[in-house]
Parts: sequence; C-alpha cells; structure tokens
Amino acid sequence: MKVDLHCHSYYSDGKHSPEFLLQRARENGVSHLAITDHDCIHAFSQLDQDYDDIELLNGVEISCFWQGLEIHVVGLLIDLSNEELQSLLDLQQSHRRNRIDAMDQKLQDLGVKDLSSWFESKQCIAMTRSHVADFLVEKQLSKNRQKAFKKYLAKRGRIYVPAKWCSLEEAVQTICSANGIAVLAHPSRYPLSKRKLNSLTEEFANCGGEAIETSYSNIDPNTRRQLSELAAEFKLYSSAGSDFHDEAAHWTDIGKYPDLDQQTKKNAIWNHPRWHYN
Ligand code: AMP
Ligand code: MN
Ligand code: MN
Ligand code: MN
Repeated sequence: MKVDLHCHSYYSDGKHSPEFLLQRARENGVSHLAITDHDCIHAFSQLDQDYDDIELLNGVEISCFWQGLEIHVVGLLIDLSNEELQSLLDLQQSHRRNRIDAMDQKLQDLGVKDLSSWFESKQCIAMTRSHVADFLVEKQLSKNRQKAFKKYLAKRGRIYVPAKWCSLEEAVQTICSANGIAVLAHPSRYPLSKRKLNSLTEEFANCGGEAIETSYSNIDPNTRRQLSELAAEFKLYSSAGSDFHDEAAHWTDIGKYPDLDQQTKKNAIWNHPRWHYN
C-alpha cells in the first residue's frame, strides 16, 4: 500500500485535472489517492468513485483561523453530500471570490486591469492568491510566484486583503459532521514556536481532530521526529501526502514524501477504524 492523502487539482490552485492526478498516482505506484482541493470538492463530481487499480478517497483542505493565524485542516473520507459541509464550502468559496474582487480593485488602483476577465478562462472553483500570483507573473509585474507573494500578496504586500475563514473549531466540527477524519495539515509550515504548535495541536484534538500530517514534501528528519512525537502525545493518527500542485515544480510529485518510520506506521491513518468503510 502507498498513499498520497494531500494534493490539488485545477479546481483550486493545482495546475492539473483530477484525471491527470489519478494517472500520475498510478504511474508512481500510489494505491490510495485523496484529492484535497482548497475549500472545494468539485473534483469528485468529475470522476468515477470506483476504479479497479486505485482507490480514490474523498478529501478537502479547509482554510481556517486559530489565534489570528491561517491554519489548514484536511478532511478525509468526508460525505460529499453532507449539507453542513457543502454550506461551509459555499461560504468559503464566496469569501474567496470577494477577496479576489477586493484585490482586483486594489490592482486597478495601481493601474493594472483584467484580473476578473483573466479568471474567466480558468477552471477554478476556489480562487486563491496563487492564481493572482500567476496573473502578476503573466503581466510581467513579478518574476515568479514567490516574488509576487512577497511584493503584492503577503501580509505586508501592496494588494493584500485579509481572509475571512471560519474558525479552527468550525472546520474540524464540519468535517466530523460529514463523517470525515480531520487532519492537521503540514504543521511545521506555520510560524509557530514549539510551545504554540503544542497548544494548536491540543486544541485541534479537543475539537475532534483525529490525525496530523507527519510526512510531506521536503520535510527534514528532525521535523518528522518532532511531529511523530506530537502525534503520540495527543493520540492522533499519522497522515502523509505530497501537497502536489504542479508537475513543473520538480521538488514535488504525487506519492513523493519520506516514508513513515516503523513506530509512526503503527498509528498510520490507514489503521483508523473508518478507513475501511470508504
Ligand atoms: P489563499 O488560500 O488564497 O490564501 O492562497 C494560499 C495558497 O497560496 C497556498 O495554498 C499556497 O499554495 C500558496 N502560497 C501561500 N504563500 C505562498 C508563498 N509565499 N509563495 C508561494 N505560494 C504561496
Ligand atoms: Mn495551495
Ligand atoms: Mn495547505
Ligand atoms: Mn495543500
């Protein structure tokens, strides 16, 4: 068994279709793939749920706030027809549209037009700042995505607009009410001290969170060890995934992340009792 429980299609800020992700997963020997678009489950209405050669798991990655910080919670094995989930995702998607409109306005004030019409040619259901970064690169206002984030889109950037995500508690509880498993995504990527990451994880677990990503692209052995200890401390299952967005980013690929160590594997998410009911 080889899982990849975190990746993005072009319905959020990934570059590729859901079919492409599945094909890439097959080529890379992945047996279980979860597509986890930002605040969007559209990929699943475009795909069969049953394939002979690969298991496709329902997933989503919800943006939320905890103590003023943007945190990502992955929901796995969610019931796609759950109404609470659908209405939260609708709301988050409309916040995303409004945020892009406000950025468009700020761009126009800087004399840059056409962001809205640029989006019309895109497949995305969940609009993100990554899209705006690509637009800025296409318009030759930035050399690459990183620079676009730094100059325009990050907190002190020229067209920054604060996000309006739900709370951590709401994200976790909505995933639970859709019968899914809530997973704290890429915990080492938040600007948190060890002590703060501990309190985030504790609160996440208290809200009903059941798993934490302990391996993903470009993670170092030391961080993996720390996250495995965190999982053990709060009795959380371990999840893993590439967070793949784009094949042009050569440092990521579907199925590419360090293997869980033997101890962490004992509490891997595929040992969760609900895993088999998918
Ligand atoms: P949003 O959800 O609209 O705030 O966009 C967040 C997405 O932008 C993340 O999922 C990342 O894929 C991407 N992102 C965030 N910060 C950066 C950065 N500094 N450089 C490049 N991409 C970034
Ligand atoms: Mn993304
Ligand atoms: Mn994320
Ligand atoms: Mn992601």
